[in-house]
Amino acid sequence: MSYRTVVGLEIHVQLMTKTKAFCSCRADVFELPPNTAICPVCTGQPGALPIVNSSMIDYAVKIALALNCVIHEYSRFDRKNYFYPDLPKGYQITQYFYPVATDGYLNIDVDGQIKKIRIRRLHIEEDAGKLIHEGDSITQAQYSLVDMNRCGIPLVEIVTEPDLSSPREARIFVEKLRSILRYLDVSSGDMEKGALRCDANISVVDELKGIQSNRVEVKNMNSFRFIEKALEYEEQRIIEVLKSGGTVEKETRGWDLATKTTVSMRGKEEESDYRYFPEPDIPPIIISQDRIDQIRSALVELPDQKIDRFVTQYRIPKYDATVLAANKEIADFYEECVKLIDKPKEVSNWIMTEMLREMKQLETEQINISPAHLVELFFLMEKGEISIKMAKEIFPEIFKTGKMPKQIIEEKGMRQISDEKVIEEIIKKAMTQNPKAVEQYKSGKTNILGYFVGQVMKETKGSANPQIVNEIARRLLEG
Ligand code: ADP
Ligand code: MG
Ligand code: ZN
Repeated sequence: MSYRTVVGLEIHVQLMTKTKAFCSCRADVFELPPNTAICPVCTGQPGALPIVNSSMIDYAVKIALALNCVIHEYSRFDRKNYFYPDLPKGYQITQYFYPVATDGYLNIDVDGQIKKIRIRRLHIEEDAGKLIHEGDSITQAQYSLVDMNRCGIPLVEIVTEPDLSSPREARIFVEKLRSILRYLDVSSGDMEKGALRCDANISVVDELKGIQSNRVEVKNMNSFRFIEKALEYEEQRIIEVLKSGGTVEKETRGWDLATKTTVSMRGKEEESDYRYFPEPDIPPIIISQDRIDQIRSALVELPDQKIDRFVTQYRIPKYDATVLAANKEIADFYEECVKLIDKPKEVSNWIMTEMLREMKQLETEQINISPAHLVELFFLMEKGEISIKMAKEIFPEIFKTGKMPKQIIEEKGMRQISDEKVIEEIIKKAMTQNPKAVEQYKSGKTNILGYFVGQVMKETKGSANPQIVNEIARRLLEG
């Protein structure tokens, strides 16, 4: 236990504005053919002048407010100069010297413990284009193609302090951040599509020797799982280097999916390499207190607030509230359901187990059913028309097909047998077939009741109402 891990994150978020950061090209380019959403501004033609997209500023302010940041009245754009084929201008417009916001925090829940992760800064910048390597391999490709559609898409970069102390905490942080971005409706947050990109800095402190390793920057992690996996790998690698008495290189490494390892990409570049200087073509950004107040008053309820409200309003455990509130659609679905049926804990259980399992299995983030589907299922259980077991059986079908529960029950002929006569018949038959069991019951071995209940379940293929079966069996055996 003498090693302590230190992680800080730099996260890039694509904003879902209608148009790009500094021109009027559309910003939702993900599925467009290459180079069809470009213009002289975003491709850096000589003489083209940028114009600031004001909803981009509003989106950034929204995020900054949700992350409890100080929003600065004055911010400014700078040029970050470097050469790469996906950057036709030869520089990226970003905010280096005067970011739009600083000094925030986000609380994360680590196994029920609240941990405060400080946000160092939040700034706005533009995205670069995309290189498509022949055969998808940068090392083996004969040539690469350039798609500039992504040039100039607005990004917010969020930089944390190194307050995270494990790969898992890093993952929890990014999950929470994405949930907030979706609540705010400012980004899709899809890591697979590159709408949320996370670079992680990691170092390890050897507490016995009192030394801290250099930090390594890890890139290319395009899912929550890979953030955790890549950092776990890197953590171990650094510890091994420390153990063997070596020094950890300050470098940038990439997560390699094929080998499930991190591989060295390059030595870490220094800030001075970029020759940052103020962007001469864009005036400073002035954000008035009025504008901030307006945006603040229009903010939706955020996950943490929702969790607190769910706990008090529906009296469900905080754990439940946390799971439900992680996804706004699920939280809304839950509330619609409990408006229709007053069983807050039962509905919560159902969503957390049956529904989330279905979504996971179908690999969807979409809720394919309406609250009416689940509520009907609950009413059918309540009326004894189906058992919980049957409800669990048909739920996947409901979720897959979108059919109402009643229809599926009809189609499958699954109705629960609550007909007392039918149940009585079966028990009576079992009693004549097995008089010994009846005697045992009468002599006080009342747990033999289970045998008769079991007989009924066997005969009806599990579709008898267990409560009614129990009652009738007891009545007949005692009579
Ligand atoms: P750079 O100038 O190299 O980008 P910054 O000081 O801007 O470095 O920090 C970048 C990120 O690295 C931040 O998220 C920060 O939290 C993180 N970081 C800084 N020091 C460490 C460290 N010793 N171990 C892990 N992460 C660190
Ligand atoms: Mg930095
Ligand atoms: Zn453009």
